[in-house]
Amino acid sequence: MTTTIADRRVRIAALDYDYASQPKQPVGVCNLCGSATFVVITHRDRYGYPAEAHGCRRCGLVFLNPVMTPDAYGSFYVDTYRPLVSAYHGRLIDARTIQAEQREYAAQRGDFLAPFLAGRKGTRMLDIGGSTGVVAHEWAKRFGLQATVLDPAPLETAEAQALGLETIEGLVERHNFGARRFDVIALCQTIDHLLDVMGTLRRVRELIMDEGLLFVDIVDFRAAYLRNWSVEEAIKIDHPYYFVEFTVTSYLERCGFEVLRADYAADHLHVGYVCRPSRGRVDALPPRDAVDAFWREIRYVQNAPRPV
Ligand SMILES: [Zn+2]
Repeated sequence: MTTTIADRRVRIAALDYDYASQPKQPVGVCNLCGSATFVVITHRDRYGYPAEAHGCRRCGLVFLNPVMTPDAYGSFYVDTYRPLVSAYHGRLIDARTIQAEQREYAAQRGDFLAPFLAGRKGTRMLDIGGSTGVVAHEWAKRFGLQATVLDPAPLETAEAQALGLETIEGLVERHNFGARRFDVIALCQTIDHLLDVMGTLRRVRELIMDEGLLFVDIVDFRAAYLRNWSVEEAIKIDHPYYFVEFTVTSYLERCGFEVLRADYAADHLHVGYVCRPSRGRVDALPPRDAVDAFWREIRYVQNAPRPV
């Protein structure tokens, strides 16, 4: 199917989603470093919605500001998210059609994790934002794990239940796990969707065993704007946060994780990290020169002709 920019605009307009009127809250301090000095880098997102992305000048974290409230995001995920992504790409993307893609994802990331998971003693795995459970199911079979899928979307956890997995419908920050702890925790294509990354990663640190293993991956914001040579095309209302390598590693260090290996995924867009609990450093910050080079690169992409 060929799709033009005009077709895409028509399809998105047909959804009649009024982003401007959704309840939002201002972000006053950076979720990563606590600074309040921001730079506004964009004024609309890839769908054309009036969403501003701000950057923290101190650490380089990029985020939507203002950002929709948790309730507004709750409704967005029930009614709008999959139809919007379908309209953007010009093909149906829903809880069923994503499963083939997720199986390929599970196989590729499973290869990356295999040296760390093979032969492990602990077997309890929590997949946060685990969607339809395809990834948890594949890894459970491959590595002998007992997997639990946690996701806020009931249509997606229903698919995970059908695979025989334990499911929890909810959010990791709010769910009461009691004394339960996990040997393996995964945040697959999830961290960019969170509303409080620091709060979630700290919660993950509490839920993981001392000898446990964390897998987390990001959409690399630099890869996203370089491939389209457009910063606006890399911003989308479904992602409150935009990470680059130095911001996610600072998060992990602040929350008590040590990166064992990073993986530039075959799609050239995602970067995955396998981590273990460590003492961490609560005031970890990206190097100043890396942050300065990042802002310069954004201005360059916004103004220099796209390389041919
Ligand atoms: Zn910051």
